[in-house]
Amino acid sequence: MAEEIKAVESQNFIHAFITEDIGPGGQYEGMQVHTRFPPEPNGYLHIGHCKALCIDFGTAEKFGGLCNLRMDDTNPTKEDVEFVHAIQEDIHWLGFDWGDRFFYGSDYFEKDYEFAVELIKKGLAYVCELTPEQFAEYRGDTTTPARSPYRDRPIEESLDLFARMRAGEFPDNAMTLRAKIDLASGNFNMRDPVIYRIRHMHHHRQGDKWCIYPMYDFAHPIQDALEGITHSLCSLEFENHRPLYNWVIDNVSVPSHPRQIEFARLGIDHTVLSKRKLRALVENGYVSGWDDPRMPTLCGLRRRGYTPASIRNFCERVGVAKSPNTIPYAFLEFCLREDLNESAQRVMAVLKPIKLTITNYPEGQSETVTVENNPNRPEDGTREVTFSRNLWIEADDFLAEPIPKYKRLYPNGPECRLKGAYLIQCTGYNTDENGNVTEVLATYDPESRGGDPADGRKVKGATIHWVDSETCIDAEVRQYDNLFDDPDPDAAGKDFLACLNPNSLEVLTGCKVEAALGNTQPADRFQFMRVGYFCADSKDSKPGNLVFNRAVSLKDSFKPGK
Ligand code: ATP
Ligand code: MG
Repeated sequence: MAEEIKAVESQNFIHAFITEDIGPGGQYEGMQVHTRFPPEPNGYLHIGHCKALCIDFGTAEKFGGLCNLRMDDTNPTKEDVEFVHAIQEDIHWLGFDWGDRFFYGSDYFEKDYEFAVELIKKGLAYVCELTPEQFAEYRGDTTTPARSPYRDRPIEESLDLFARMRAGEFPDNAMTLRAKIDLASGNFNMRDPVIYRIRHMHHHRQGDKWCIYPMYDFAHPIQDALEGITHSLCSLEFENHRPLYNWVIDNVSVPSHPRQIEFARLGIDHTVLSKRKLRALVENGYVSGWDDPRMPTLCGLRRRGYTPASIRNFCERVGVAKSPNTIPYAFLEFCLREDLNESAQRVMAVLKPIKLTITNYPEGQSETVTVENNPNRPEDGTREVTFSRNLWIEADDFLAEPIPKYKRLYPNGPECRLKGAYLIQCTGYNTDENGNVTEVLATYDPESRGGDPADGRKVKGATIHWVDSETCIDAEVRQYDNLFDDPDPDAAGKDFLACLNPNSLEVLTGCKVEAALGNTQPADRFQFMRVGYFCADSKDSKPGNLVFNRAVSLKDSFKPGK
């Protein structure tokens, strides 16, 4: 049995439960699976939400069912339409769709109220006048039950007080409506939980219609049931709330009985996944906005260069296990690298350029060489790149004094291949008055033209990338590192702002990219050969003023199984 459970877990325990539920004799036998995603519109979606999205929408997809999008605006806090639109855009970008089933939790306030009245009439809820301080004091502990002197007040009295609460007769916190469940329960959520409280606050959609608001634990199951949700999938912190979820469903006359199933929240190292903390980063200017490419938000990842496929693959592989898990950021990068390795066009770009002069190539002459667009996709074809006497190469592809095992350019060093073009050999260099190298000198072998190893010649030196200084274009490149130095800045009690990495952004200007990039549109992605995967910045890049974000480096720091 234990082994069976393990097998189910690894297969996806949620899918296994659902298969049982809709199968012969199951509680939803023959019914269409119906899930929902209920974000609170108080921030942008982050990679943790992607896990929930992939579970909610992905499960519906798998079973040929439906998934609703519901804004959880039960709390009358400041909600922003900016967030509502951003959430919708992000979900569509990931490739999920809610069809015409877009809802707001607040649309059900009238129903919530009716169900609360129903509970009072059944003797299952009462108006309680404990002050917040008394409430805490009477809460009891594991050995002492909670108390409320108002528990047995007559139904008529509660009905009258509840109506007057709604009518605005009482100030905030003067009284609450509590479900009458079990003051001695070992689960504190069942100790006559508050289901309505007084808040004289404006609601972004309901205006000033209400001054009492339902608690999430009461409103959420009702919303699910009214929408005909069969499976309410949520993160693990709601596990202890499930008995209350079921109690509400069992005791008010809703038309259906959804089943709540919990899964572990996703954590990722070197970042924080909480809207409150992400908002603090934005509001205090530690990042340029919710879509800063260092942010773990969907809009940040998108701007950085992440593809929907890479994120969905990541969530798929992370799985739905019940045990809390922190996944290395490097694994997210691994999934992106894997996707872009297949799809991204290869181009040459020199990020930290130094001049290379081919001294035996005639001045004023120029030619074109042919390079492949993507060796993984021959169908993507080839393109022409110009070559001349004056080129740019990476400064670190040259050393005046070689170190052991250095296989690139140094005076009288090995022959090196200029990618797609000729073999060259370094003959010397020039410096400025401070001794800094300003120009590398080399000769080329006119007989060696062609892509390696088209001429069949093997050389000891490396193949290095280059751009033609006559035709190349200047670009700005933004290189990113972890936003947080500390691997676990999200840990409870830690000052996450003190964990920020001061070097998470490096801006390089005067980078040289090949002419083919002249038509780059915002959000286009490339592999800069030997360097990494880059994405034209969707806000700042335009033809004539190119700005690239490093999505991920070529080097893989992720070791599977570690
Ligand atoms: P935050 O702390 O970031 O505000 P939240 O849970 O309050 O998170 P909601 O907008 O209420 O955010 O979340 C919508 C859904 O996304 C919920 O069902 C929640 O369980 C799920 N979710 C949020 N964060 C994660 C996470 N890190 N991993 C998995 N699911 C998550
Ligand atoms: Mg929340």
